[in-house]
Amino acid sequence: MARIIAIANQKGGVGKTTTAVNLAASLAQAPKRVLLVDLDSQGNATMGSGVDKRELVASTYDLLLGEGSAADVRVRCEEGYDLLPGNIDLTAAEIQLMAQSDREQRLKRALAPILPDYDFILIDCPPALSLLTLNALAAADSVIVPMQCEYYALEGLTALVETIDALKVNLNPALEIEGVLRTMFDVRNNLANAVSAQLTEYFGDRVFRTIVPRNVRLAEAPSHGQSIVGYDRASRGGVAYLGLASEIIRRNNERNKADR
Ligand code: ATP
Ligand code: MG
Repeated sequence: MARIIAIANQKGGVGKTTTAVNLAASLAQAPKRVLLVDLDSQGNATMGSGVDKRELVASTYDLLLGEGSAADVRVRCEEGYDLLPGNIDLTAAEIQLMAQSDREQRLKRALAPILPDYDFILIDCPPALSLLTLNALAAADSVIVPMQCEYYALEGLTALVETIDALKVNLNPALEIEGVLRTMFDVRNNLANAVSAQLTEYFGDRVFRTIVPRNVRLAEAPSHGQSIVGYDRASRGGVAYLGLASEIIRRNNERNKADR
């Protein structure tokens, strides 16, 4: 059965989409069966997967509004994973869902029939604690929180942890923090190192050992509609995301063993 991981942080531009696309491609290399879900109206994960968001036949909009099944909406990407694409239509989905019952459970329900098809389902969330993000967190087993080690990062993180705790009570009691991921990291930056140390103190082994460095190849890859695995897997960014995939697979195996 698939492990569903939401990639969320209400702060914008912290590396959610970069993590979603490159982790999907890295897990597919393992090889694992992977589905990437684009829940952001910016459609960046869709474009970064080599799928044109302006030419979608169906999208996560249809999924959330019950106008299409996951099996109908999914497309195969060149780099060996499946995608439920998203685009600007999601803005309308959010408004239309407001009036509907069970509005936070739509994604969870839509994914249920295809869970046996995958080992990992990754959900790229928008930069807000919106109804779309709530749908992701209601469907997920765990959350990856990408963050930049900056001065205000810890404050934002505390807010997110409080939100996750509140959510657990109402929406999804089993939700776990898969890990906090340090992104765009610069080892020569003293502040980044200090924030990183505080992060480890607070979250302990919930901080991924893998650190994603600031690496221009990661920023270039999406403009070619490729992941870092396809674009330049030997780059420092490529090595980091392949390492993150190994770390997640190892933890998942350990968890499954402990459950048995
Ligand atoms: P949003 O909140 O708008 O959805 P996001 O959290 O998904 O943003 P990304 O789109 O992944 O963030 O990254 C923001 C910008 O930083 C992008 O231009 C991306 O290419 C770049 N970027 C992300 N990670 C790295 C990295 N490790 N090194 C260099 N550039 C990066
Ligand atoms: Mg994004």
